[in-house]
Order: sequence, then C-alpha cells, then structure tokens
Amino acid sequence: MAIFPIRVFGDPVLRQRAAEIEDIDAKLVRLSEEMIETMYAAPGVGLAAPQVGIERRIFVYDVGEGPVTVINPAILESSGEWEYEEGCLSVPDLHWTIVRPKQVHLVGRDLHGNEISIEGDELLGRVLQHELDHLDGVLLLERLDKDQHKQAMRVLRARAFAGDSSLDA
Ligand code: ZN
Repeated sequence: MAIFPIRVFGDPVLRQRAAEIEDIDAKLVRLSEEMIETMYAAPGVGLAAPQVGIERRIFVYDVGEGPVTVINPAILESSGEWEYEEGCLSVPDLHWTIVRPKQVHLVGRDLHGNEISIEGDELLGRVLQHELDHLDGVLLLERLDKDQHKQAMRVLRARAFAGDSSLDA
C-alpha cells in the first residue's frame, strides 16, 4: 500500500475547491485506504484528498475509534464555541489556538454509497470542520486572527526563503 507525500503550504492544490464525487468505485476505495495509511504514518487525526494532491471531496479521520471515510460531506448545523490548539499536516510544526463551533452535524456518504450522519463534538467536531475546509481550498491560516496570521506568514515566508527541509513532511 502506498503512502502519499503530503502537500504543504504554497502548493496551489490546497487552494482549490475539490470536485464532488460521482462514482464510488474500487479506485476510490483504494484511495481511501491509502489516505488512511498516509494519515497514520504522518501521524495525523485527519487527512483530506487535496492534501495528497487529489481534488475530490473525500476525507478520512480517526479520533481514536477507528478510521472513517467521508465522501461529499456537508455541515448541516453547527453550534457553540470551542477553543482548541489546532495544527495541520500541510502547515507542519505550527499550532494556533483557534475558536470554532463546538458541535457540528455533518452528513455525507460512506464507501458503499450509503448516507452517513455524524454528530461531532469538541475534537471530532474540530476535525470535521478542518477537513471540510480542505475540500473548499481553505487552510487553517484563514481561521487565525489578525495577529496570529501576521506571525504565521512571517514564519512561513522565512521558511520558504531558507528552503527549510522540514516542509517535506
Ligand atoms: Zn489540515
């Protein structure tokens, strides 16, 4: 089973809106398996297809209860507020305290094409929002406040100039 290289900040694929998935076939099942392997190897709690260079609406996650694959997800409802130290495999080694809704109700499809409905609270809620953002071409950098964003861009620019090899996560 192949492990994908993870695309990092600066790669235009991370800024594209990924396309809806029409057909759930053996190729997609294989993609999901390889994304799960890649997520565990990273290691991370979630991984969206654009992070491995594939512009399709699928993500995987595991918050400690086994791997889950979600296809064509949408958030129907969100509520509350929750502060959490959030990071991203595509922006390696950096974390910020980010406030987002605490609970979300997400729907989508599984690998059999069946509808799934997930109520995510706290960490799960956060992962679902983070991964759905990736499918819309949104990085966590866009969820930072003004000061955090300024500081983040300073670090990322310095890395780009230095040709920092830690970006090859
Ligand atoms: Zn991410």
